[in-house]
Amino acid sequence: MAKEVHVIGGGLAGSEAAWQLVSAAVPVTLHEMRPTCRTEAHQTDALAELVCSNSFRSDDAANNAVGLLHEEMRRANSLIMAAADRHKLPAGGALAVDRDGFSQEVSAALANHPLVTIVREEIDGLPPAGWDSVIVATGPLTSPALAQAIQTLTGQAELAFFDAIAPIVHRESIDMSVCWLQSRYDKVGPGGGNADYINCPLDKAQYDAFIDALIAGEKTAFKEWEASTPYFEGCLPIEVMAERGRETLAHGPMKPVGLSSPHRPDTRPCAVVQLRQDNALGTLWNMVGFQTKLKHGEQVRIFRMIPGLEQAEFARLGGLHLNTFLNSPVLLDGSLRLKDDPRLRFAGQITGVEGYVESAAIGLLAGRFAAAERLGRPLSSPPPTTAFGALLAHITGGHLSQEGDGARSFQPMNVNFGLFPPLPAGEPRREKGVRGSRTLARKQALSARALADLDRWLAGDAATAAA
Ligand SMILES: Cc1cc2nc3c(=O)[nH]c(=O)nc-3n(C[C@H](O)[C@H](O)[C@H](O)COP(=O)(O)OP(=O)(O)OC[C@H]3O[C@@H](n4cnc5c(N)ncnc54)[C@H](O)[C@@H]3O)c2cc1C
Repeated sequence: MAKEVHVIGGGLAGSEAAWQLVSAAVPVTLHEMRPTCRTEAHQTDALAELVCSNSFRSDDAANNAVGLLHEEMRRANSLIMAAADRHKLPAGGALAVDRDGFSQEVSAALANHPLVTIVREEIDGLPPAGWDSVIVATGPLTSPALAQAIQTLTGQAELAFFDAIAPIVHRESIDMSVCWLQSRYDKVGPGGGNADYINCPLDKAQYDAFIDALIAGEKTAFKEWEASTPYFEGCLPIEVMAERGRETLAHGPMKPVGLSSPHRPDTRPCAVVQLRQDNALGTLWNMVGFQTKLKHGEQVRIFRMIPGLEQAEFARLGGLHLNTFLNSPVLLDGSLRLKDDPRLRFAGQITGVEGYVESAAIGLLAGRFAAAERLGRPLSSPPPTTAFGALLAHITGGHLSQEGDGARSFQPMNVNFGLFPPLPAGEPRREKGVRGSRTLARKQALSARALADLDRWLAGDAATAAA
C-alpha cells in the first residue's frame, strides 16, 4: 500500500485530485473545513459545492475550448465530469447541473471510497512536517489563517480582485405573458432542449431607462482593500459595463440576437435579459451575466424595471467576493509543486485558473502528478497542445510574471484557444463566401489535434502503470 497523500480543501479541485489519487490506488486524507468553518460563499457541507452559477459553460468539444476541456476530463476519468453528466439540466448549448444532486454525488463517491478518509477541520497553518506530500486546493476563499501562512512562506503578496454573484429569481414570479422560453438560435444543448432560457425583452425606451437606473443606482461602498483592486474582465458588474458605454450591455449579456418573441414576432427587441434554470425542480432561475455590486434594495428596485420581472421575487441577490491566488509562474514548478517547498503542491483556483471546470482540471492534474510521484513513476505532463497542457502552461510557464515596471501581471484565466500553440501547417483557409469559416476551421483543427495528443498521453501513462 502506498503512503497517503493529504489534500486540503474539498472543493472542485480537491475532490477531483483526491479521486485521481485513489483511482491510482494511493490513499488520501481529505481535510475540509466546512461545516466547522465557513466561507462567505459556500452554503452547504457538501464537497464540490458550486458557489454561484450552476453552469459548466459550453459542452461543444469541437468548437469551444471549455467544451474541449470537458471532453479531455471525461477521457481522463474525471469524477467532476461524471457527476456533472449524471445531473445535467436543460441549458441550450451549455452543460448546466442540478447543484445539489451534483455535489451530493461527488461527496458520496469520495465518502464511500475505501482509500479516502475525510476529516472536517481547518488547516490553519503550514501542514505538519510529517506530511510529505500535500495538495493545497483551498480555493478563492482560502481561510485567512492558511492564506497568511502561505504568504509568509512564499514571500509573495496575494492579489485580490472582485468575483461577482448574479441574482436568482423564483420562476413563479416571472410573467410569462411577457417573457418566453427559447435558446439563442434555438441551439440544442446536451440537456436535449432548444428552449432552455427565459427571455425578457426591452424596447429602446425601456433599455435607456434601465441603463440610467443602473448608472445612478446606489452601489456597495468600496472597502479599503477593494479600491486598488482591478476587476476581472470576464466578471464585470453590469453597472460597470453600463458606465463604460450605454450600448455595452446590448452587445454583451443583454444582446438580443438569435431570439424572437412569440408574443410579438414582428418586433425585434432592443435588448434581452436571459434567465437560466438553476435547480432540478425548475423553480429557481438565475439572471445570466448579471453579476453586480448594487445594494440589495437597489437590485430589487432596478431589476423589477425589466419587462416580465415587475413582480420578481429573488431567492438570492448579487454580491461581490474576494479571490485569492498565487503568482504561480514564479512560485510553482511544471508539476504544480512549490519550488521552495516541493512537498506542497497547489491545485484549483488558487493557482490562477478561473472557473469551476478549469479548477477541477488543475485538481485532476495535481492528483495525477502526486500519484505518479508516490508510486515512483515518471511525472508525465500533458502535451501543450491539449487543453490540460494549455492551462498548465498558463499557470506554470507560458505567462510573463512581471511587466516592465516590476508590477505583477499574472491574472487568472479561463481556458481559451488563445492559450494553445498554433497549428504547424498554419491557419486553415477560409471557405469562399462563408464568414467566420477560418476561425471555425481553426478551432476544430486545434480540438482534433488536442484530443489525438491527449489519447496518446493517456495511453502512455496507462502503459507505464501496467508495466
Ligand atoms: C463568490 C464566487 C462566485 C463564483 N462564481 C463562479 C461561477 O459562477 N462559475 C465558475 O465557473 N466559477 C465561479 N467562481 C470561481 C469558483 O469558486 C471556482 O471556480 C471554483 O469553486 C474553485 O474551485 P476550487 O476547488 O479551487 O475552490 P473551492 O471550490 O472554493 O474549494 C475550496 C475548498 O477549500 C475549503 N477550505 C478553504 N480553506 C481551508 C482550510 N484552511 N482548511 C481546510 N479547508 C479549507 C473550502 O471550504 C472549500 O470547500 C466563483 C467564486 C466565488 C468566490
